Amino acid sequence: MSKSRIINIPQRIVNVLGTEYQIIFKSEMPEGLKETELGKIVLEHKWIILEDADNDRWIRGADHHKQILTHELIHAFLFESGLEDICRSERIVNWIAIQFPKILNTVTEAERVVKKHRKQGDKR
Ligand SMILES: [Zn+2]
Repeated sequence: MSKSRIINIPQRIVNVLGTEYQIIFKSEMPEGLKETELGKIVLEHKWIILEDADNDRWIRGADHHKQILTHELIHAFLFESGLEDICRSERIVNWIAIQFPKILNTVTEAERVVKKHRKQGDKR
């Protein structure tokens, strides 16, 4: 059974399919955590832990950092979907994280094309 554990730091909370995940920078983590509690994502506690070496770059929204955040969130989405058998698969998670923006673009484009076509059809 997973159990969320809230760390008392500035609250950066995101909702993953109804479950709150806390985004934490490494330097904010309390002392004395177990090795398993220092991963990039701790599904059991609902933590996403980011390197804060360059907090500044986060603020500027560098692509590399967005990709890391997307990657960790995909782990969380799979886990919260009950797909525990694949939620830790780096191969699957990497594929989704890399393709996700492209899929979103194509879906948006497809919707636009369909809407345009329907509008033209309505005129007849
Ligand atoms: Zn990963």
